[in-house]
Amino acid sequence: MATATREQFFQTMEEQGIALTYDDVRMRTRSGSSGPLPEVINIRSKFSENVELKVPLVSAAMDTVTESNMAIEMAKLGGIGVIHAALSINEQFTEVRRVKKASHSVIDEPISVRDSDTLESVKKMCAEKRFNFSTFTVIDADGKFKGVLTGKDFEYPESLTVSVGEAMTSVEEDNFSSAPVGTTLEEAYAVMQKGKINTLPLINEDGGVGGLYLWSDVKRNVRDAEAYNVDHNRQLRVAAAVSTGEDALERVEALSRYADVIVLDTADGDSYYVFKTLKAIKEKFPDLDVVVGNISDGASALELAEAGANGIKVGQGGGSICSTRPETGIGMPQVTAVYDCMNALREKYPHIPVCADGGIKDHGDIPIAIGVGAHSVMMGRVLAGTKEAPGDVLVRKDGTRYKTYRGMGSASALRDNEASRERYSANGGIFLPEGVEAYVPYEGDLKNVLGLCVLALRKGMRYVKSPDLEYHRNHTKFFRITGSGLRESHPHDVEIIKQ
Ligand code: 5GP
Repeated sequence: MATATREQFFQTMEEQGIALTYDDVRMRTRSGSSGPLPEVINIRSKFSENVELKVPLVSAAMDTVTESNMAIEMAKLGGIGVIHAALSINEQFTEVRRVKKASHSVIDEPISVRDSDTLESVKKMCAEKRFNFSTFTVIDADGKFKGVLTGKDFEYPESLTVSVGEAMTSVEEDNFSSAPVGTTLEEAYAVMQKGKINTLPLINEDGGVGGLYLWSDVKRNVRDAEAYNVDHNRQLRVAAAVSTGEDALERVEALSRYADVIVLDTADGDSYYVFKTLKAIKEKFPDLDVVVGNISDGASALELAEAGANGIKVGQGGGSICSTRPETGIGMPQVTAVYDCMNALREKYPHIPVCADGGIKDHGDIPIAIGVGAHSVMMGRVLAGTKEAPGDVLVRKDGTRYKTYRGMGSASALRDNEASRERYSANGGIFLPEGVEAYVPYEGDLKNVLGLCVLALRKGMRYVKSPDLEYHRNHTKFFRITGSGLRESHPHDVEIIKQ
């Protein structure tokens, strides 16, 4: 049977004035008779023009979803997290920096202590500065490297009044190892593995300290980090949201030190203020990627790309905690919105990625979002119940555990923070909430939750016979299902014992 191409399918829908969402469509399977698929289906993609993803999944910029813990784990699992903007500039900067510093391979500027300091004074400094590490490089009065002080050096002396110089492992000792500044991670790995060394200080030409490798970081970065989403310095990638408020430029300036990409994030992503803020950001920071959203119309996607956006975020009112659609009457269903934006960009701006934001209910919605043209999928609810999401785990009387998840346009979020009021233009006297506060079941480790999403994406792609994400994005065909097709799609006519 000749089947309509994806383009013909959406064109027919458009001619009839019909917009669709995830439950309205299914992907057509293809025959695999022409050859086997790769053993591992490649799902590498991009969040923005210059920011890659190993896994095309993004955690939402919401105060119950993404702060540093979530963003660190998202990047370790190959995706990226967007740190929300409902924080002071300094707080948001600190969260972004925590992600960047979470899996460093080399410590560029290790904290040094003086050989004449006492262990007691070092301990006091650690408490005051709230250092959660106890390895220091040691220098003398002239700044020359003298040795390394580690946590175990505090345990053996009878009193902490001894000097650092006496307690440390000295550069003079026979088997002491150091290396010159510029030693690569791979070189450090080889030296440290061979010599069973925990610390490898890097020494500059003047004999001063120029860096420090720690075995725990080096080992992780070489052995475990294949899957991490990292920048050219092998540091985890991270995104940060800003709104259109007066402090937008100041915020971007602070965040740009560590953030790989800025997300200019408002509910009305094609407003005059968004274009104005985007222009100002791109003028001042031409090399910084800016993803702009949220919109749901192809014409706006094109205009934003022309205005300099390096990525487009699509989704208005489809999120699980959103009430924008019943409150205001707008909102293109998500499948058509994503297709429309991708389709508008593909001729002139095929390199500008589209992120499908919100509305993922079932795992199978993820391959559908990508099959209609998204490069990545942003999720809130799916991730809000994990250990890594901000907020406490609450326990009901019957022992079930849950967490709170709220819309950034919910009444409480609008009351609590300026960024929400800006996102939802709610700075007048009374405001109209565009979201709700909710409970979600506690789900434990993000690793398991995201793992199932990735598995489902690869399985969906396998049924469709897509060898990689680019192919899937361009060649998936769809049909529309009816109410009875949807009923048939889910388990039915049985009493479910266990999900
Ligand atoms: P979910 O994955 O839970 O279905 O949707 C998450 C997305 O909903 C977020 O990434 C964001 O774009 C959107 N969102 C977050 N809070 C609100 C809100 O209060 N109102 C509306 N309309 N959208 C929201």
